Amino acid sequence: MNVKQKARIMYAAASLLLLVIVGYNTWSYYAGYCTVATLTRFSIPAKLLLLGIAIAVVFLFSSKAKNRNLAKQNTCGCGVLLRSRWDYCPVCGQKRKELG
Ligand SMILES: [Zn+2]
Repeated sequence: MNVKQKARIMYAAASLLLLVIVGYNTWSYYAGYCTVATLTRFSIPAKLLLLGIAIAVVFLFSSKAKNRNLAKQNTCGCGVLLRSRWDYCPVCGQKRKELG
């Protein structure tokens, strides 16, 4: 499975989830279980969920930035990814940059 297929599946799953949420809220509104006022108010579980999402997003972006920096440090000027034990690039022969 390539990246495009994974992204397509993720978008389809997110769209389906959104449709289910909108459908459930619309049904509960017309069935009289909630009003417009309760739809716009956040309950305690919803606040905890939003806090969890915010923490997860911060963690995701920090981990992506860390991986990007690691890949940049281990990449030679010619574009070859260097293994941790390699002191020289096998393609261009350049010495590995000192890690600052
Ligand atoms: Zn190189």
